Amino acid sequence: MPNLVEQVIRPEILRLSPYHVPSSSGMIKLDAMENPYSLPEALQEEIAQLITTISANRYPDSNSVSLKFSLREAMEIPMGMDIMLGNGSDEIIQIIASALARPGAVLMSVEPAFVMFRMIATYTNMEYIGVPLKADFSLDLDLMLDAITKHQPAVIFIAYPNNPTGNSFDVEAVSRIIESAPGVVVVDEAYHAFAGSSFIDKLSEHPNLLLMRTLSKLGLAGLRLGFLTGRPEWLLQLEKVRLPYNVGVLTQEVTRKILQYPDVLQQQVDAIKAERVVMSKYLNVLDGVEAFPSDANFILFRVSEASQIFSALKQRNILIKNLDGAHPLLKNCLRVTIGTPDENKQFLQALQECIMKIGN
Ligand SMILES: *Cc1c(COP(=O)(O)O)cnc(C)c1O
Repeated sequence: MPNLVEQVIRPEILRLSPYHVPSSSGMIKLDAMENPYSLPEALQEEIAQLITTISANRYPDSNSVSLKFSLREAMEIPMGMDIMLGNGSDEIIQIIASALARPGAVLMSVEPAFVMFRMIATYTNMEYIGVPLKADFSLDLDLMLDAITKHQPAVIFIAYPNNPTGNSFDVEAVSRIIESAPGVVVVDEAYHAFAGSSFIDKLSEHPNLLLMRTLSKLGLAGLRLGFLTGRPEWLLQLEKVRLPYNVGVLTQEVTRKILQYPDVLQQQVDAIKAERVVMSKYLNVLDGVEAFPSDANFILFRVSEASQIFSALKQRNILIKNLDGAHPLLKNCLRVTIGTPDENKQFLQALQECIMKIGN
């Protein structure tokens, strides 16, 4: 008798492996681009108070009117642009793909890039095209423009800065891609807080540009809130695909409260950026390590025997991300999220010891 599950589930889903989140209890956790700092105690208290006033029996505001108002101010959303909220920006990628997934429609990105672009193309039955970056992780504009002409993508996702490489692509090259694209281009600014520049002011120049951000990397990963901003004519259509209560009342209210104190997260971001400078410097003076420039809250680096080094770090209770084998351009690459100064010091110390032990 044929297996019912395999008969019913789509073959491309059967072929997927589940998104793997490694266990990290008791470890120094430098694998997931989280902000290592918690909120100040006084603000925690205010949040605790606030929660006592929440009506958990009622559905949340489906339009998140108050939260959008706060975000508009805090993120300096240009006049005339709308906002759509998602349960993390992962959900926004899924909403965009679902709305565009005509039969045969192409979702394009670069490679290596954020893995959810490819995953969500599969979930939504879109065809995925990944255009390789150059060996230094910069955009290969000619290759990209050729691929656009050939595949006519319905949507192109470009993370700026890029994950897992950490660099920001050339602004002129991205602009050329936006101008050449027959469909919509989503610039994913998940790491905006740690970067120097943004495409937000280019929304008015390009009718096919949408801009996505998240509060996850900024310090609120547990609340799950991402947003998309762009022209009302796009967002009006995408809103039809968003599930009505995708952002819960706790996320709406707690985020709004935290946004009343913009200095709190900004100071944490400043501390992370300062540590990024220290980490880059130390990584680059380690024998046999090449650290790549980063505009984000993580650093990609190459070291020989990367997979062994990764395992040896894990044995010392330090969890980073192993990218060796994820893409040919990432051979022997590891990615470390910037933690607290103390965590970073322990990581660097352990890394140095592992390199000496495993040898070059
Ligand atoms: C982390 C990340 C996201 C998703 O973040 P959410 O937590 O779902 O908001 C989106 N894009 C990139 C490039 C990321 O690195």
